Amino acid sequence: EGQAVRFPFDNSYARLPERFRARLDPTPVAAPRLLRLNAALARRLGLDPAELASPEGVAVLAGNHVPEGAEPLAAAYAGHQFGNFVPQLGDGRAILLGEVVAPDGARFDVQLKGSGPTPFSRRGDGRAALGPVLREYLVSEAMAALGLPTTRALAAVATGEEVYRETVLPGAVLTRVASSHIRVGTFAYFAARGDVEGLKVLADHAIARHYPDLVGVPDPYRALLDGVIARQAALVARWMHIGFIHGVMNTDNTSISGETIDYGPCAFMDAYDPATVFSSIDQFGRYAYGNQPRIMQWNLARLAEALLPLLGETEEAALASANEALAGFAPAFEGAYLEGLRAKIGLPGGSAGDVALAGELLKAMAENRADFTLTFRRLCGAVEGDDSARGLFADPAAFDAWAARWRARLGEAGGDPAARAAAMRAVNPAVIPRNHLVEGALAAAYAGDMGPFEALLESTARPYEDQPGADLPPAAAEEPYVTFCGT
Ligand code: AMP
Ligand code: MG
Ligand code: MG
Repeated sequence: EGQAVRFPFDNSYARLPERFRARLDPTPVAAPRLLRLNAALARRLGLDPAELASPEGVAVLAGNHVPEGAEPLAAAYAGHQFGNFVPQLGDGRAILLGEVVAPDGARFDVQLKGSGPTPFSRRGDGRAALGPVLREYLVSEAMAALGLPTTRALAAVATGEEVYRETVLPGAVLTRVASSHIRVGTFAYFAARGDVEGLKVLADHAIARHYPDLVGVPDPYRALLDGVIARQAALVARWMHIGFIHGVMNTDNTSISGETIDYGPCAFMDAYDPATVFSSIDQFGRYAYGNQPRIMQWNLARLAEALLPLLGETEEAALASANEALAGFAPAFEGAYLEGLRAKIGLPGGSAGDVALAGELLKAMAENRADFTLTFRRLCGAVEGDDSARGLFADPAAFDAWAARWRARLGEAGGDPAARAAAMRAVNPAVIPRNHLVEGALAAAYAGDMGPFEALLESTARPYEDQPGADLPPAAAEEPYVTFCGT
């Protein structure tokens, strides 16, 4: 017996009514081996990294040992998958160990993903392959470093077992940390059953946990809906600013807390094209980059629909309230998106003309297959006379023509160029987890070499610093990039 691993658990979700979840332990794995521990995140949660890295800690992270105070459960939820409602999904390959309360009082779910079958697994094996576990680790941590609300990755553990996808792959378990795992689809689960009492319990729980300022306000459920709409509008705006494509914006993958959740076939755009789709399962481009705002609005309409029984005395009053709330999405998104876009070209707080100017840049980028991340990053230097951005355009003259108008506008706006460039560098990342680098890191990990994964994790942890080698994808990467769920 080694040292015990201590988690400061307080499991509020486990105290909700039984029909909210199934109680069960993770299924042990053959040969747990720690691949990566996020020591900084462990400390932020009030956990001891040395304890977690010990054999006892790794046993917990693999699902082989249930620590003191944990109340493992698989949560029930529903969801619209590619627009079609599925009344019961639920945690089919994940188990919530419990909630830790960090030293600063913040509460976090600690969930094992890939931890074995549950009553919600349907035909699935409840497991995860190494590649998707490492992809989620890498991309969620990159998103956190970029400053976006997101779930986090505490650890990745190899199971020593095989999983069967298109091929046989090594298995792994991800320890995911989230403000909670309550989704739009969690509300839909109770609504679909006509369980108004369950809906109310869930809404009260979500308010207490994520919107504590709303406790006791006159119309709390409408205020909850407004709150989720506001956070999701802000979140999607930030996805758009960094060229992030979630890939599977189903309503079970839309969080009530406003965090990015469920990194499956997600990716960052290289060349700018609003129609970009990466996911192999998104045949019709439903979740393309440029569709994300309107899909989020659609998902929030599904939340409003689920909340209807709580939104008014009469059906008419409830519908009116829901529609009023949903009407808030477009202005909230536009406001956040356009403000961020103006900041990206160095004109924060600017005019409608500046929005048009930014729009013309995006149009030229699309027409010239210009790299999204590098164009905006090189624009920071362009304030101080560096003209390397033009080289990213198939026709560099298209950039020159735009840049002449932009420079005239900057001159009009005045201000110190060095300060403007610095402000732009704080919003335009130099480093994102480039698709070809992610694929390379996963391929190396499958071959037993974690070096490229570690290197990419290290560089994406400093996204707003210029770094040597943070460069364009190889020209060969002209073929469309495709991400798969299972491999
Ligand atoms: P996702 O595509 O990750 O949002 O998952 C959608 C649903 O499928 C959820 O209910 C998951 O728990 C379930 N699921 C996905 N993969 C598996 C698997 N390997 N075994 C069991 N259930 C799964
Ligand atoms: Mg999901
Ligand atoms: Mg998933």
